[in-house]
Amino acid sequence: MPDIIQLLPDHVANQIAAGEVVQRPASVVKELLENAIDAKSTVITLVLKDAGKTLIQVTDNGTGMSPADALLSFERHATSKIKIAEDLFKLNTKGFRGEALASIAAIAHVSLKTKQHDQQIGTKINVEGNKVVGQEQAVVPEGTTIAVKNLFFNIPARRNFLKSNPVETRHIIDEFHRVALAHPSIAFTMTHNDDLVFNLPTSNVRQRIVNIFGSKTNEKLVPVAETTDILKIDGFVLKPDFAKKSRGQQFFFVNDRFIKSPYLNHAVNAAFEGLIKPSLHPGYFLFLEVDPKSIDINIHPTKTEIKFDDEHALYAMVRATIKHSLGQFSIAPVLDFNRESSLDTPYDYSNKPPVSPTIDVDRDFNPFSATPKQKNIDFPYKRDKDTAHWDSLYVGLNDTQDNTDGSYSPETHLTFESEQVTGSLFEEQSPVSAQLTFQLQNKYIISPIKSGMMVIHQHLAHQRILYEELLKNITVHQGVSQQLLFPLELPFSIPDMQVLQKIQEQLEHTGFVFGAFGEDTLSITGIPVALVESQASMVLEQLIQDIMDEVPDAGFSQNDLLVRSMAKSMAIKTGVALNSKEREHLVNQLFMCKEPSISPSNQAVIITLDANDLDKKFK
Ligand code: ADP
Ligand code: MG
Repeated sequence: MPDIIQLLPDHVANQIAAGEVVQRPASVVKELLENAIDAKSTVITLVLKDAGKTLIQVTDNGTGMSPADALLSFERHATSKIKIAEDLFKLNTKGFRGEALASIAAIAHVSLKTKQHDQQIGTKINVEGNKVVGQEQAVVPEGTTIAVKNLFFNIPARRNFLKSNPVETRHIIDEFHRVALAHPSIAFTMTHNDDLVFNLPTSNVRQRIVNIFGSKTNEKLVPVAETTDILKIDGFVLKPDFAKKSRGQQFFFVNDRFIKSPYLNHAVNAAFEGLIKPSLHPGYFLFLEVDPKSIDINIHPTKTEIKFDDEHALYAMVRATIKHSLGQFSIAPVLDFNRESSLDTPYDYSNKPPVSPTIDVDRDFNPFSATPKQKNIDFPYKRDKDTAHWDSLYVGLNDTQDNTDGSYSPETHLTFESEQVTGSLFEEQSPVSAQLTFQLQNKYIISPIKSGMMVIHQHLAHQRILYEELLKNITVHQGVSQQLLFPLELPFSIPDMQVLQKIQEQLEHTGFVFGAFGEDTLSITGIPVALVESQASMVLEQLIQDIMDEVPDAGFSQNDLLVRSMAKSMAIKTGVALNSKEREHLVNQLFMCKEPSISPSNQAVIITLDANDLDKKFK
């Protein structure tokens, strides 16, 4: 047998490495901006053509390179930033792998102009597909200009894979934001197809945020600051009123490097707990400084992930510091969770006369009156969104005229989508008779059993039922859909759309049917049978959040996470009144589950009280 292993030629190795470093124009923008920052520049300009597909050019006024260094900079593992392995542990530069320029040059036409400050004459180099096609001395300004043209010219498959110009531009802007926010003392401009998109003068962090996100942002910012032995935190969170449905403005920087950390994001969410609705995302711009020795940024080639030595301590500190800041700036809890727009400003109310609250009481209200006959069969998870505001059902009771006997029943206010009920739901034989169950506090279903009584938590029980059903569907790919009459067009942020795209197949197995995945809108033509149309958006938003917040290594599979999240947001809530049919159905379904007694997140679903327990109470 002949030997078959051989070393890959450099240009092949570089193309492979390039795949890791350069996914899209935004990756090039990030690397070039970071190199300019590492070169101690104070003014950096970014020029783009066609979302970077035709041209990405970064000009800086930094140190520049000698002619020899300029040539060497395109070699793989050529870096001026670390010399020995130990340097890896005290990094204060963005780059250190010496891979970016080599990778970019492997897949684009690159031209470099550079001159060091103490030199009269500079260097010009052109590189195409890793081959230097020209080097000459040239009169150029101090600093460096790198122009990257025709990205992926030699890998048509990659080039075709690029998204539309607006999508790629959005990615570039995201990178630009991250770099510009981390370095307010550097002036940046960005021009796209000859339009000036950003002009950010040297400033402090607050001004930089405002310059990027608009002057209205200023009044939304709550400063955050804390210094301890292991951590310095600085920056701003957005007031709870400005929490958003999408996670647009969430920025963590560790030692001036943008990072993604679901774990720390969770810490911020925890600090906002009770102040914002769980489906909303707080905005934040947080700058952490830690000893470079205590982090490992080497775990990901594009370096947005990071490992901390003492994650738990950081978590606690981030949470406590933000809580403290929110408290100190007396951000009163926002209890009005039902308000539609999270962006309306409270100042709108300031000129309006106060209206004193009124309580309308229906004198005829009889809680013990029989449930009026219902037009249609219904079941709990088919209710319209209105039921989410169940508590408001008890206000304004005088609009119950259509109740002939004058009694009030919450059910009459619910909208039922009974046409969509699949006939089989109530056909099973019931082990628990409806007459024998009743509901306590719109939360528990009580049923007598031989030894005493059984108390079932309605929300957790329904979670268990949906969890097993969805898990089965997703595993054997047999989710049943209900076709929507009109497709739903749901808006999502670009990062959220990416998450959805990644789990598209799994979602389809649960019964979702998707139309087009647009840039920031998703068209849905079918939904799982167990889902109400009006809940679709909320369920998906929650799912995205759960996926993003997932603590790595928590030991759950993606399917399990997805199904747990969906079951949780789809399950009937505490506070929803259930009629006898609904109770019966819920209980029957629960006992058909494999594990009826615990919820998908390990809480007890059922407890029993036997006669002995009751006897003790009467002693
Ligand atoms: P890294 O940044 O990981 O060192 P790169 O491939 O990005 O690797 O860059 C290689 C080297 O080229 C850098 O270490 C630096 O010495 C030099 N270099 C790149 N861009 C610039 C620039 N804008 N100004 C000065 N030197 C630069
Ligand atoms: Mg670099």
